[in-house]
Amino acid sequence: MQAKLIVFGAGASILALSIVAVVAFFITKDAISDSVINGLSAVATTQRQQINSMFANYEEDLDSVANDTQVRQSLRHIIATNDHVDRFVLNQTLTDRATVEKTGESFDIQDTFGQILASSEPGHIGKSPYDPTEEGFVIKTGTSDENGSESEIRLSAPITFDGRIIGYVTLHHDFSDLDQIVTRYIGRRDTGETLVVTRNSDGELHFVTPLRFNEGGDFYRPIDTTDSNRLEVRSMSTVSMIETDLVDYRGKRVFGVHHYIEAADIGLVVKIDEAEALSRLDSLGRGLVLTILLVSIVIGLFAIFVARHLIEPITQLTQAADRFSRGELGTRIAVVSTDEIGTLSHTFNNMAGSIQSANTELESRVDERTSDLRRSNQDLEQFAYVASHDLQEPLRMVSSYTQLLSRRYTGKLDHDADEFIGFAVDGAKRMQTLINDLLTYSRAGRSDGQYSEYDARDIVDEAVGNLESRIESSDAELRIGNLPTLVADHQQLVSIFQNLISNSIKYRSASRTPIIEVSSERVGNAWRFAVRDNGIGIDPAFTDRIFTIFQRLHGREEYQGTGIGLAVVKKLIERTGGSIWVESEPDEGSTFFFTVIDRQSDTDVGETNERTNFRAAS
Ligand code: ADP
Repeated sequence: MQAKLIVFGAGASILALSIVAVVAFFITKDAISDSVINGLSAVATTQRQQINSMFANYEEDLDSVANDTQVRQSLRHIIATNDHVDRFVLNQTLTDRATVEKTGESFDIQDTFGQILASSEPGHIGKSPYDPTEEGFVIKTGTSDENGSESEIRLSAPITFDGRIIGYVTLHHDFSDLDQIVTRYIGRRDTGETLVVTRNSDGELHFVTPLRFNEGGDFYRPIDTTDSNRLEVRSMSTVSMIETDLVDYRGKRVFGVHHYIEAADIGLVVKIDEAEALSRLDSLGRGLVLTILLVSIVIGLFAIFVARHLIEPITQLTQAADRFSRGELGTRIAVVSTDEIGTLSHTFNNMAGSIQSANTELESRVDERTSDLRRSNQDLEQFAYVASHDLQEPLRMVSSYTQLLSRRYTGKLDHDADEFIGFAVDGAKRMQTLINDLLTYSRAGRSDGQYSEYDARDIVDEAVGNLESRIESSDAELRIGNLPTLVADHQQLVSIFQNLISNSIKYRSASRTPIIEVSSERVGNAWRFAVRDNGIGIDPAFTDRIFTIFQRLHGREEYQGTGIGLAVVKKLIERTGGSIWVESEPDEGSTFFFTVIDRQSDTDVGETNERTNFRAAS
């Protein structure tokens, strides 16, 4: 009970706490995830705007050159006259524009065939390394540039004169502006990072800007486009998205936000490691586990306390009630408290006291009545014995003289007199038999106390020997099983077996050979014997009556006897603490069972309830 209470109490509390903790954990996780994603979204939006305005600036720069009247006229002149002065002036103009306004900026001017006629970079002149008619921003990364030129962002625009395209101007930029926007990691914690991804003419993806965790590798390395779990890959295929279950170029799970910038065909990815984003959850988890542990310990201690102060007295009470119910009527409980349990203990003690005194009184009354009963029983037996014994003498006289009368006067008086004398003789004989039977019955069991150890087999053999001639004349077959050695009154046991076997012969069936089986079985502290026959059987309604003195189920003409045998057997058996009963099927046979206490193993033979138990046990 104590253990159960402790386990139950602690278990229920820990379960409740755990549920609360798990719910709290997930709510917190969601809240943290939301706040991290909001942060990432804000950074991504800002950086996208910065990149877009960077591109707008570049477009503005280009347009200002493309629409510059002096540039257009110089170009027209150069194309028409191939004038060196014009060429020099144009180069100078482009150099001024490039170096004055932006670092990492250069301009080329091409003819309509793509050949560079003038440039802010003198080395470019005369070459035609790219196609100026390509639309929009072209981003070249170092690895993909076959001409070995620097990585760059490029944008071309046509130069028109009188509505005709006379050439192109191309703006070149290195990545320093873009790098500045995306590699500013201040406030981005340990793993916050922005990636810029682009696609080359073969459709391969490359990083544009340096990676925060490059580990010495080339940040332009190609991206494996087959892995759709990669944030960088997704950034090129979706306009905008918040992602919480993808990995980055290191294969680490990250929280990320990405935007596709169509103008330059680039993907912008702003991300942070999931581990760092949720790092606060670890300490929360540890805190929760610790709290659960502490609370569990407190609950456990409380349960032990409750068990000590509440359950223990109840256990004592239960044990006392159990001892009391097993007959220890002197059982009392020490009353140590004044609470409900104390009151209960007190009430128990009062109740136990009342029952004990009532029991004592009852026992003394039973003792008194038992001795009264024993005395009147003895008186009765004595009376029956004396009466039957003393009646024998006058009866013998009556019997002798009626017989004398019969011998001398039969046939000498009239017919009625002969008949009367006959009745008198018969009556006297029957009375003699009855008195003899009564005497036998009242004598039965008188030799109580002559006990020795015998082999039951010898006893049965002796009984069978006494019935030898009847067994032979009836052709009865006897089957004797394993029988024990036991302490018994030899003569009484012979008489019991003899009576039962003799009845089995007497009440045999006319239609079959009588078979009589004697067997034994151990039941508790007694031996239970059985004498089974295949005789005429007994109607179950009379199975109790046959053990009463002078009770018979048949007339004297049918079967000889007076109905004393089983009554004597019952008296002998019950005197030694045993019991006798019969189980029978009319026309099938009967089995007489009787028990004999084994005095070798148990000397307590006087208990009435034990006798009943044997019967029940069988
Ligand atoms: P008795 O044999 O002198 O009549 P018992 O006391 O031995 O007296 O038996 C009482 C009655 O029990 C018998 O009259 C008989 O009807 C019945 N009885 C006893 N033993 C058997 C038996 N083995 N089979 C059938 N009936 C029996």
